[in-house]
Amino acid sequence: MKICVCDIGGTNFRMAVFENGSLYDVKKIKTPNFYLYNEKEIKRLIVDALISGFTEKKNIYTDMNRFSVCFPGPVTQEGEVLGSSVIFGTTLKERFFLKRELEERLPDVTVSVMNDLTAAAYRYMGNGNFCLITVSSGIGNKVCIDDRVIIDPEGRTGEIGHYSADGIELGIECTCGTGKDHVGMIASGRGVELIARRFGSEKETEAGKLFLKSALYVGCCGDSLQITAEMLARAADNGDVFSRYVIDFCTKPLASEICLLAIAMHIPKFIIIGGFALHCEYYMEALVRNIKEKGIYNFTDTEIEKMIVCGVRDDDHGLIGAGIAVAI
Ligand SMILES: [Zn+2]
Repeated sequence: MKICVCDIGGTNFRMAVFENGSLYDVKKIKTPNFYLYNEKEIKRLIVDALISGFTEKKNIYTDMNRFSVCFPGPVTQEGEVLGSSVIFGTTLKERFFLKRELEERLPDVTVSVMNDLTAAAYRYMGNGNFCLITVSSGIGNKVCIDDRVIIDPEGRTGEIGHYSADGIELGIECTCGTGKDHVGMIASGRGVELIARRFGSEKETEAGKLFLKSALYVGCCGDSLQITAEMLARAADNGDVFSRYVIDFCTKPLASEICLLAIAMHIPKFIIIGGFALHCEYYMEALVRNIKEKGIYNFTDTEIEKMIVCGVRDDDHGLIGAGIAVAI
């Protein structure tokens, strides 16, 4: 069975045909976002782009009558999009009835709309209970129990990135607008970059002194504001002491959240995806070490050792997951 799948990202849409676990005919389209358009225009342009992308594929694969779309923001069970900071920038004035609008224009097609991380979780189903965590510009999660993604009808689960990190008082305002020092502002790629820039500028502290001796100091001409997440990941993997200090610090709040989730729901496996974590071996190493140092009640050392695993190192989670979600 062929399924037309689409992963809507903040910069690009990717559309493809999914069949028997594989993707083909992948096409990239630019996402209309708040930099250029208002809310009403973005909604119209997204629907139009999805319809023309589907129609184009339908003209080739005439027997295809399923369309599965994943979106970077909360989506209700009815396929209503509640928002997306990367596409709309601010809170939506009105809900985006994406599934209904697609169904109205494609009456003979079965349409499905879901959150992108929910879709990604489907890719890992069939191997017991797990929690999927993405570490990229922010942090998000989905818990999967008995081959079901746990989501409330309004699609509001999976926001561990917006928990205020225990014991950290840096006063960093979160982009969600509801508090400070949220885990997503510390343990994400963007968070690690932010903390490195701040620590590097504090010359009298232990971290500040390490920055003076760091390879990054030379690379940034002494200006910590020039540090990027990519530079930090590379330096940490090459043994740079300052970069490792920052990553040790930044992974602690995520390690605490994993310990709590594991204890609360006896989750044996945490699958990590997302650009930053998967491109920095030291990040994964520090995360596991922080979890082991904390310890988890009811889990043996061996179980903790096997608990954190890397997801597939590609960009196809949304597309493949959106296909699997409607194929099963
Ligand atoms: Zn937040």
